[in-house]
Amino acid sequence: MSSQVLVTGGVGYIGTHTLVALQEVGYDVIVVDNLCNSSAVALQRVETISGKPVCFYRGDILDRALLNRVFAENQIFAVIHFAGLKAVSESLRKPIEYYQNNIIGSLVLLDAMRASGVKRFVFSSSATVYGSEAPVPYVETLQTGNTTNPYGTSKWMVEQVLQDTAAADSEFAIALLRYFNPVGAHPSGLIGEDPQGIPNNLLPYIAQVAVGKREELSVFGDDYPTPDGTCLRDYVHVVDLAQGHVRALEWLVGRTGAEAFNLGAGRGISVLEIVRAFEHATGVSVPFRVVSRREGDLPAFWADTFKAKQELGWVANLGLEEMMVDTWRWQNANPQGYQAVDTGK
Ligand code: NAD
Ligand code: UDP
Repeated sequence: MSSQVLVTGGVGYIGTHTLVALQEVGYDVIVVDNLCNSSAVALQRVETISGKPVCFYRGDILDRALLNRVFAENQIFAVIHFAGLKAVSESLRKPIEYYQNNIIGSLVLLDAMRASGVKRFVFSSSATVYGSEAPVPYVETLQTGNTTNPYGTSKWMVEQVLQDTAAADSEFAIALLRYFNPVGAHPSGLIGEDPQGIPNNLLPYIAQVAVGKREELSVFGDDYPTPDGTCLRDYVHVVDLAQGHVRALEWLVGRTGAEAFNLGAGRGISVLEIVRAFEHATGVSVPFRVVSRREGDLPAFWADTFKAKQELGWVANLGLEEMMVDTWRWQNANPQGYQAVDTGK
């Protein structure tokens, strides 16, 4: 069996960590990425960590001719599909771009796979597909839908496409990985999350406050029905998440059909607990101010982790301490992200 894995969006945050995890266990990695939200410097860093080359095609998953070439030039064993746009608030302003990239992009990729006979697929889905009404903890058997923004809806719709594809073609084997809140960075400090502009997510924002790039953290609401009034989320270390993809690839071999798996740590942590954990782990203080709630935020959700443990043999091993220390190491060593060393994309 070939050991080549195509990783779309492999230059991004979760993609780079997954490349390292794949290379560590002997896979050869091929990346398609248009660098719309990433820097090629990240791939050099991956090669530095693993000591192995990454085969890179710079381009768009919407470019069918490019995909045909990638499948023709390689013996691809499976595809891990990270490429897509991911900012919830931006998706409300740019629904067409989000549906185009996330849905049409996935369809073009799937069609190219079918045409070349590659039928193992790992999809980056999200806890957001459980929608606004689901009871916690989220378990995979819950009905999905009721999404509240084009980003979430695009993930939900691609899940439907993949379920239907697997039902229609028994050669397809598909893992829908529903990530909870990925945080942290590789312990080398060489790769990490590099948001463009003002970070939307909590940990990158805290890290930028800590490094002096931003004055203070705005805590979005402390009047939620939670123990300290701030929202609860299921934070999972990106290195653990990357391992989840390796397990999913192993799981696909010899299987058919589509299955969803939660990738989370299985417990809810509040915003204030995160602030305190960061301060404790790094010794750096994070000034914050409580402001009004952010529109669309759910009070609390976390994963039921039983299925991932049972079927993939995957659990999140790294704790809050590692999440904070590794985030800080990356941010401290790369205060401007990859930008400082990027000589042009
Ligand atoms: P990211 O933005 O860092 O990585 C995505 C990569 O895809 C980028 O390198 C970008 O340049 C590339 N890309 C985007 N559109 C493309 C296209 N049309 N053609 C080729 N390349 C394209 O995001 P990430 O945090 O690494 O997330 C990876 C995946 O996981 C995304 O699909 C995202 O929706 C999903 N996800 C992320 C989170 C999270 O909190 N980070 C949570 C749940 C799900
Ligand atoms: N949050 C916050 N300030 C910020 C960013 C996030 O208080 O600057 C809160 C947000 O309200 C949520 C939690 O931190 O309760 C995680 O937010 P993030 O955007 O990282 O993840 P998501 O809301 O998508 O789960």
